[in-house]
Amino acid sequence: MLVSAKEMLTKAVAGKYAVGQFNINNLEWTKAVLLTAQENQSPVILGVSEGAGKYMCGYKTIVGMVNGMLEELGITVPVALHLDHGSYEGAKACIAAGFSSVMFDGSHYPIEENIAKTKELVAICEEKGLSIEAEVGSIGGEEDGVVGAGECADPKECKMIADLGVTMLAAGIGNIHGKYPANWAGLSFETLDAVQALTGDMPLVLHGGTGIPEEMIKKAISLGVAKINVNTECQLSFAAATRKYIEAGKDEQGKGFDPRKLLAPGFEAIKATVKEKMELFGSVNKA
Ligand SMILES: [Zn+2]
Repeated sequence: MLVSAKEMLTKAVAGKYAVGQFNINNLEWTKAVLLTAQENQSPVILGVSEGAGKYMCGYKTIVGMVNGMLEELGITVPVALHLDHGSYEGAKACIAAGFSSVMFDGSHYPIEENIAKTKELVAICEEKGLSIEAEVGSIGGEEDGVVGAGECADPKECKMIADLGVTMLAAGIGNIHGKYPANWAGLSFETLDAVQALTGDMPLVLHGGTGIPEEMIKKAISLGVAKINVNTECQLSFAAATRKYIEAGKDEQGKGFDPRKLLAPGFEAIKATVKEKMELFGSVNKA
C-alpha cells in the first residue's frame, strides 16, 4: 500500500539521513526502483513529473501499475508515489487518481499567490492524509520545459510557506536540474543554514541530485535535507548501458532483440544507480 511521505521523512530528519526520490518513466524504471528499495530495506519515493505522467498514459495508469507492483513484487518497505513539480491542477488530478504525495511548485508565482494556492492544497492533503511538498526560490536548469537560473531562496519566504503546514520544503540553494555546468558555484550552505534556522524540523528537499559531489550531499543532509531527488542520473546510466548492448551488436545475436533482453542492461544499470544513492543518502536498512 502506498503511504504518505510524512513518517519516512520525519524519521529521516531525526536519524540524519535522506530518502531518495527516484523519478520513474516506464514499467522497467518503476520495477527497478521498487526492487532496489526492497533489497536494501530502504524507504523510497517514486517521483512522477507531469510530462512523465502524460508519457505513461496518465496518473490513473501509473497508480494502477505501482499498486499492482507493490502487491505482485511483495514490496513491504514504505513507498510514496509523489507528483514532482506539480501545477495546481496537476496536484488535484494526482490526488484524485490515488497518489499518496504531491509537490505543488508555485515558485514561479509571486509569493502571495504561491502561499494562497499552497494553503488550499495543504488543506486537501491534510484531510486525505497525503504529504505535500512546496517550493520557494526556483531551482535551476530545465525540467519539462521549465527553465530556472538556480537562485537561492529567501529564508523568510521559506518560513512563511513552512508555516502553512506543508510536509516538506524545497528551497533553491543554487542547485540545478540535470547535469551541472563546469563553472557551477556549488550549493549555498549559508542559505540552507539560514532556512533550517527558521524552519526547524521541517524536512528540506534537495532537487537536482545528479552530479552534486558526495561531500556536499552529506553536508546538506547534516543541515536538514531529508529528501533528495534523483532523475537525470538514472537516465544517464540507463542510456549508457543500452548503448553498450547495441554497440556490441548483442541485439543482432540470437534473440537479443527481445525487449526483455534489450532493456535488461539498462534496468540493471538503474538498479545500481539507485542502490549507490541509497547508500550515499544513508537510507539503507531504515525501512
Ligand atoms: Zn526538481
